[in-house]
Amino acid sequence: MTMIGNSRIHLSLGDITEQRTDAIVNAANSTLMGGGGVDGAIHRKGGTEILEECKIIRKTKWPEGLPTGEAVVTTGGRLKAKMVIHTVGPIWKGGNEREPELLASAYRNCLALALKMKIRSISFPSISTGAYGYPIEKASRIALSTVFGFAREHNGIDEVHFVLHSQHDLMIYDAALKEVVQTGFTGLD
Ligand code: ADP
Repeated sequence: MTMIGNSRIHLSLGDITEQRTDAIVNAANSTLMGGGGVDGAIHRKGGTEILEECKIIRKTKWPEGLPTGEAVVTTGGRLKAKMVIHTVGPIWKGGNEREPELLASAYRNCLALALKMKIRSISFPSISTGAYGYPIEKASRIALSTVFGFAREHNGIDEVHFVLHSQHDLMIYDAALKEVVQTGFTGLD
């Protein structure tokens, strides 16, 4: 556990759909209509209520789809978490297509929305590092430095969990955490 400002940052190995934090984050795609990976698992376990709210969001706020780096909130349906924050991470295209900025935006917009919704605890998966192919060593540094930066500047979110799906991913996040703590890595250089 690492304390940044008033927020506790935890890394753990597990299944994000089992988390009891106020909200969990979905690494969605811009359609918001479900998909594979975390997205599929969340919709399967959370039930149709989540998809119904996603359809309303598509009809009203984002008819063309949720842009990369943005975030929206729905119910958690049958999940233990009360809410799901859906975001779209960037697809890795080699690193020169603003992927770092877009990944940082995804994390930052989730946290800003959580703050607005008075969510006090939140769980993140490793956004973009599955089907979207973002190298996890790079993505983990951006994830952690963005969360640290937000936590230093804002009060109100007590707990931020990163729920990693394999021991290997957890080790990489652990190493990134040490690096970010030691060097104050800003994430985008
Ligand atoms: P993206 O399309 O953003 O890359 P994915 O869902 O394909 O999203 O993968 C993101 C990360 O989430 C991957 O590291 C994957 O192993 C992990 N993951 C998949 N299912 C779960 C789950 N149930 N809980 C936590 N992490 C998961």
